[in-house]
Amino acid sequence: MSKNIGTICHCGMMASRRYMPYCSEYCGAYKEGNYSKTPAGHFPAIPISCDLCEKVTDWRKHDEKARRFCCHGCKKKVLSSSIRRPLMNYYLLSNLKRNGGWISAQGMISLMEANGMTGTSARWSNLMARWVRLGVVEKWQERSETPTYRFRSNIKKPVGKIIIDKGA
Ligand SMILES: [Zn+2]
Ligand SMILES: [Zn+2]
Repeated sequence: MSKNIGTICHCGMMASRRYMPYCSEYCGAYKEGNYSKTPAGHFPAIPISCDLCEKVTDWRKHDEKARRFCCHGCKKKVLSSSIRRPLMNYYLLSNLKRNGGWISAQGMISLMEANGMTGTSARWSNLMARWVRLGVVEKWQERSETPTYRFRSNIKKPVGKIIIDKGA
């Protein structure tokens, strides 16, 4: 943790451990999406598709540091899903979807930590089980002395919708 102290985001604010090397997800999306400032020198509104209802809204720099939904209503719906630990499952699938290709359970540790969720590879592997069963996630076992499991997302729908539909 100490090695990151003092990292400054491109916007000039102190980077946050959670969004390293940025201060927020907005600043990461701005940089990675090759956006540029408005003629007046302000950070632009970035269009973001709601991770539940897919409505596109403007994401502004002063909004929540990590915005995934169009409104609090959509966020609340996802967080009150009847599955156990909806937020943890949301981050798990969301990270997997963003990652794209195969990732080991070990590799999930740092991604989940970036969302403030700590756990071992066994924990993330266990949490994957339901989604593998439902066909939302593919699992592949590497042939080696110590079995390594890798996972890949099959997710096309918004992740929030999957959490609510329990993968149906
Ligand atoms: Zn920033
Ligand atoms: Zn929405």
